[in-house]
Amino acid sequence: TINLGAGPSSLPTSVLLEAAQGILDYDGTGMGLVELSHRSKTFQKLMDKTEADVRALLNVPDTHAVLFLQGGGTEQFSATALNLLAAHAVKNPDYFKSNGNKGPPCDYAVTGSWTAKAVKEAARLGATTNVAIDSRKVDGANGKFGSIPPVSEWKLSPVESKPAMLYYCDNETVDGVEFPNPGFPINDLPEDYRKEVPLVADCSSNILSRPIDVAAHAIVFFGAQKNVGPSGTTVAIVRKDLIVDPDQGVPNGGPRIPTTLVYKNMLDNGSLYNTPPMFAIYASGLVFADLLQNKGGVAGATERSEKKASLIYGLIDNSDGVYLPTVRQASARSRMNVTFRISRAGENKPDEALEEAFVKRCAESNIVQVKGHRSVGGIRTSLYNAVTVEETQKLAEVMTSFMEDVKA
Ligand code: PLP
Repeated sequence: TINLGAGPSSLPTSVLLEAAQGILDYDGTGMGLVELSHRSKTFQKLMDKTEADVRALLNVPDTHAVLFLQGGGTEQFSATALNLLAAHAVKNPDYFKSNGNKGPPCDYAVTGSWTAKAVKEAARLGATTNVAIDSRKVDGANGKFGSIPPVSEWKLSPVESKPAMLYYCDNETVDGVEFPNPGFPINDLPEDYRKEVPLVADCSSNILSRPIDVAAHAIVFFGAQKNVGPSGTTVAIVRKDLIVDPDQGVPNGGPRIPTTLVYKNMLDNGSLYNTPPMFAIYASGLVFADLLQNKGGVAGATERSEKKASLIYGLIDNSDGVYLPTVRQASARSRMNVTFRISRAGENKPDEALEEAFVKRCAESNIVQVKGHRSVGGIRTSLYNAVTVEETQKLAEVMTSFMEDVKA
């Protein structure tokens, strides 16, 4: 079965087989992985290797910690804002009082459903949020996500107001919108802003599919369940000098943070402050090792992602209007989540009956989970790392024959 679901998604078969073995008897211990003590030397060895592989794959510098957390990407919507506000309060003890008992601005680039949720959560927690750009509201958007406006159009908070962060999502899974290249928006930010303001990237659905400049970020986080492994762990790569004891910032207007969300607790305890999601970390570790040893690392994944995405978008663009991309800006079309509608040729309007027929046709070829997110509709084929070029070619064959039938 070719699983093109947006997440949880497929894992390489070799990894599943190895994970199954480890579940039964891990490394000759006579115990399954999930039966070990998380405080055992055996598990510590696994944690160390997993962290080392993340560092090697993503070029994580020593200035940054690699934390294995729970709570999913959603919990990081809260944790990123809370921890960076705490860091701000510790580093700027007089800020809150001199700013009329108001915290620093948190800037957000809202380019899809997940950043919309992230900013809503930060505001709910009491952060002073500033939506620097909302791509639903730019000319021609008609209230829909589907572009990434250039940084020159963003209303960033002034550097003098000492923003606590700028938050963006590198790939919006629901809407199929991805930042056009890995250097954007970093390279386009005003230099003083880039130097002073901590940059946060949600890379849940495109991590390890192309290089990312970790050193330029304060936080890069990703849930495992799309491009890595099963759900259950979220990796947060955090600049160490921004990891503080939040209680020290409370008298300065900083937030109180639930214990398990405090990055410092996780850093000080090697991500084992409390019982970790052992299986999710284990299976993710197998994927990291497989990518590193057998699949050419991130460079290999980048090449395959390009091939897969250009194959499907090429087909969409040459479909005489049968396949309609939902993302208006071609350069912002996601390599990971290819979203489109289906129309009768020449009508230029989504036809739900045709879309239903397409889903069925895919299922007949054992291609599953291609229905679009309910908020966008249509079709979404997710081409994460575990989806091979050959599997993508099968999808292309089905799309081609379906298109010919529609045109006939
Ligand atoms: N961020 C992105 C880009 C996502 O795709 C998702 C989940 O689909 C999330 C955040 C939320 O992750 P979780 O479901 O692990 O909380």
